[in-house]
Amino acid sequence: MGAGSSRIVLTAKKPVGVALAEVKADESGKGFRLVIDAEFVKQDRFTQLLEQQKWSIAPTTAKTGRLAAPAADDGSFVIAVDAGHGGIDTGAVGVVTKTEEKKVTLAFAEEMVEALNKETGIKAFLTRSKDEFLSLSQRVQIARQNGAKLFISIHADTLKQKDIRGATVYTISDKASDHLAANLAERENLSDEIAGVALETEPAEVADILIDLTRRETQAFSVNLARSVVSSFEGQIKLINNPHRYAGFQVLRAPDVPSVLLELGFLSNKDDEKLLLDPSWRGRVSERLVEAVRHYRQGTVANGG
Ligand SMILES: [Zn+2]
Repeated sequence: MGAGSSRIVLTAKKPVGVALAEVKADESGKGFRLVIDAEFVKQDRFTQLLEQQKWSIAPTTAKTGRLAAPAADDGSFVIAVDAGHGGIDTGAVGVVTKTEEKKVTLAFAEEMVEALNKETGIKAFLTRSKDEFLSLSQRVQIARQNGAKLFISIHADTLKQKDIRGATVYTISDKASDHLAANLAERENLSDEIAGVALETEPAEVADILIDLTRRETQAFSVNLARSVVSSFEGQIKLINNPHRYAGFQVLRAPDVPSVLLELGFLSNKDDEKLLLDPSWRGRVSERLVEAVRHYRQGTVANGG
C-alpha cells in the first residue's frame, strides 16, 4: 500500500456478507466513522458473493503477458521462476534504502529467467512479470498449468538480528528444520491474508495415495535441487549457516513439481541489502543458479527422471 493508506482485514468464523459499508462524518464534525454492517449468510449466498469478487481469484494467465505458455510437450525443460510477493503484499523492507522485497524479487527473477533461457533445452518463465498480487496457490497453479518441471520462488528475508546474512534454500516439510525456518514459513504464508484472500483448504484428492507417493518423489527431487544450489553457491555467494533448511511453505505445495524457495539474503542486513540491489551481484547469483539447474538436470537424466 502507498503512503497515507491503510488496510483493515476482518476475519469471520462463519460466512458473512457486507450489507453496508460507508464512511460517515461523526456527530461532532471532528472526524469520520467507518460503518460496516455484516450479516451471516448461507453458504450458497456466500459463494455467489465471492463470484462477484472475481478480481481476487481470476486466472492470471491472461493478464501476464510473459506467460505465453511454453508448451510442456516440446521436450524442453520448463522452469517457473516465482518473484515473491507483489501488489498489496510488499514483503520485507530494506533497512537502509527501504526498498521493498517485491521489487528485489522481481528484478532478480527477470534476470534469472533470462539467464536460464540462454541454456539449450530450457524454457523459463515468470509467474508474475509486473507488480501484481498473486495468491500462493495461484503461483503453484500457474507453474503446473505451464507444465513446469521445477518451481523456484525468489525472496529476500528480514530478521530482528541485523547481523545475520547470507542466502538460504528452503524445501517443504511438515516439520520445520529449526525456529528460523518455522518463523519464516509463517511470515511467507501470511501473504494471502495480507491481501484478504481466504486460506484455501487442501483439495480432497491430496489424501489420494498416488498423490502421496508422487509427493514423496517430488520432495526427493526438491532436496536434490536445494543441494545443487548450495554446492553451486559455496565459496562464491555468501550462505547462512546450515543453508539448506525446511518448513511448511504454502507456495512449495505442488505435489508433482519439485520446488525450492530461495532467500537470496537479508534485507535487514545492510551489506546484504547492498548486494541485493547490485545488478552485477544478481548476475553472478543467477549464473550460479543456472549451474545448479544444470547439475540437477544431469542427476535426473541419469536416474531416468
Ligand atoms: Zn518473502
